[in-house]
Amino acid sequence: MKRLSTFPKGGVHPPGRKHLAHSLPLQNASIPSLSIVPLSQHIGSPAECVVSVGDVVREGMLIGKPTGFVSVGIHSPVPGTVKELRRIHLPNGVQTDAVCIELAGEFDRLGKSQETVEWENMSAKELLDLFAQMGIVGMGGATFPTHVKFSPPKGSRVEFFVINGVECEPYLCADHRLMLEKIREIFEGLRVIRKILDPEQVLFAIEANKPDAIEAVMSYCRQNVLDVKVMPLHVKYPQGDEKQVLKALTGREVPSGGLPIDIGAVVSNVGTVNAIYEAVCLKKPLIERALTVSGGAVKNPANLKARIGTPVSQLLEECGGFSEMPEKIVMGGPMMGFTVLDLDTPVTKGTSGILALTGAEIRSANQTACISCGSCISVCPLGLNPRLLYKLVDHLDYGGAVEAGLMDCKECGCCGFVCPAHIPLVQGMRLGKRIHLKNRKKA
Ligand code: SF4
Ligand code: SF4
Repeated sequence: MKRLSTFPKGGVHPPGRKHLAHSLPLQNASIPSLSIVPLSQHIGSPAECVVSVGDVVREGMLIGKPTGFVSVGIHSPVPGTVKELRRIHLPNGVQTDAVCIELAGEFDRLGKSQETVEWENMSAKELLDLFAQMGIVGMGGATFPTHVKFSPPKGSRVEFFVINGVECEPYLCADHRLMLEKIREIFEGLRVIRKILDPEQVLFAIEANKPDAIEAVMSYCRQNVLDVKVMPLHVKYPQGDEKQVLKALTGREVPSGGLPIDIGAVVSNVGTVNAIYEAVCLKKPLIERALTVSGGAVKNPANLKARIGTPVSQLLEECGGFSEMPEKIVMGGPMMGFTVLDLDTPVTKGTSGILALTGAEIRSANQTACISCGSCISVCPLGLNPRLLYKLVDHLDYGGAVEAGLMDCKECGCCGFVCPAHIPLVQGMRLGKRIHLKNRKKA
C-alpha cells in the first residue's frame, strides 16, 4: 500500500473524537433574536461602523465598511433594528465594537430560491474587489482577508493552488460535511479562483480519516473531467496548517517569516472556497458559516450553519444543553481554540467549532517544574525550542524570544499537549507575541 504523505518534523496524535458529529448533516441553526456582530473579525484593520442605533437593517446589508486594503466589509446577518453599539472582548483577546441587531422584518434570502449570477465576464480585479465588499476571509481560523491573499506580488507565479480539506483539529467536522454536501459549490468556487490566480496545478488535500470525502471529491473530479489532484494525507496534527500541508504536498518549505507564495503556493480552506462561490455566484455576503458543536459535555453534538453574531449560549441550547457540567468551553478546536468565558460571545467568521469539554477531556492537572524531558522540542513541527521560548517570555526577554523564533510559532499546541509538567507553553507564546507586537507598534 502506498505510504501517505505528511510533514516530516514533529506533530502529535491527539484522540480525534470526530465520531461524535462526523455523520451528522449540516442543519440550519435557529436565527438569534439578538445578533452581536463584531466589527473586527479578520486580520487587519477593523471595519468602520456605518449604522446607528435605531437604524433598520436588511439581511446581508453592509453595516461595517472596509478601512483599508487589509480589511473587509461586515454585513447584517439578519433583518432587524440596531439596538446598541457595544464594546466586547472576543476569546482570542481582541477587543472590538459590535453592532447588536434585534431581529425584525422579512428575510431577503432565507427560504427563497437564489438566482445564479453570470460572473465569467468579470475581471480578476473586479472579483477581488467583490471579495472585500462581501467580507470574504480565510475560514479555517486565520481570518486573513482573501482578496489580499489572492493578490500575489507582481512577478510571482502561482504553481500550486491548494484546497485545504484536512481539518486536523479533533472534534471538528464542519469542513468534512461541506465536502460531502457542497461539492458542486466548492468546485464552482474553484472556477472563480482559477480565473484570478491561474494556478499551474490544483491540489485538494484531505486527511485519510475522511474516506467518504476523498471518494466524493475524486468521483466529482472523474465525472466532470477536472484537472485536480486529490491528495489523501496521513492523519497527524497539525497536518492542516498551511506550512505543514505544503511540506506534505510539495516537499517545499515556507521560509521563516515568509508566506506560501514565496514557494509558489496559495492555500484556501474548503469553507473559504464555498464562501467565494456564495459571494460571487449568489451575491451573498459572509453572514453565516458551518461549525461543529461538540464535546463530551454536549447532549446532542451537531454540525450547524449558524449566522455570524449568534451567541454561543444559543447554539449550546440548540444542541440540548449539557449532559454534564463542562470543565471548559472552547471556541475553535481543542488544540488551537480559545476558552470562552462569557456565553454571550458571538460566532464570528473564524469560528469553526464550539466545544463543551469535560474534565476527563481536558487533562486538567496542576503545573509542575520543567523536567527538561525535551518532549516539547521533539513534537514542534517548526523545529522550535518551546521550553526555551517560554522561559525567555517568562523572564520578560521578548527580544531574546523573538531571536529564538517566537514569531514563527504557529500556536499549534503540540508542545503543551505533550508536556508532562502541564506548563502552559502555548499561552506563553501567545502572550510573548502579543507583547512583542505591542512594543514594536509603540516604538
Ligand atoms: S505551539 Fe509553537 S512552539 Fe509549540 S509546538 Fe506549536 S509551533 Fe512549536
Ligand atoms: S515538555 Fe515540558 S517538561 Fe519537558 S522539556 Fe518541555 S517544557 Fe520541560
